[in-house]
Amino acid sequence: MRTYQEKMPVQFPKLDGTEHCYYCGEPATSGHMNQREQLRVRQQKFHLTCHRCFGLENKFFKEALNAIPRELPPAEQVSLIEQAIRDVDQKVRDAVF
Ligand SMILES: [Zn+2]
Repeated sequence: MRTYQEKMPVQFPKLDGTEHCYYCGEPATSGHMNQREQLRVRQQKFHLTCHRCFGLENKFFKEALNAIPRELPPAEQVSLIEQAIRDVDQKVRDAVF
């Protein structure tokens, strides 16, 4: 049975210093909804980051995406994208700690 609350859109968290960076735990300054592949890897609806980790994540993710051959069938691309997200998340953590 669905409750009223389950049908309500989940509100994006306020970035007022009470939310923390997914990677380093500093106050989050930016964020977005996790997309399908990100959701599967991270198991979180929202992806919140501080300024530093946001920059690192973008840089690493661009590199990782460029390494995925575009001629692959979509199903194989998806699994490579999921692996790239895992690798990027690990790289960001390695870079900040
Ligand atoms: Zn951070």
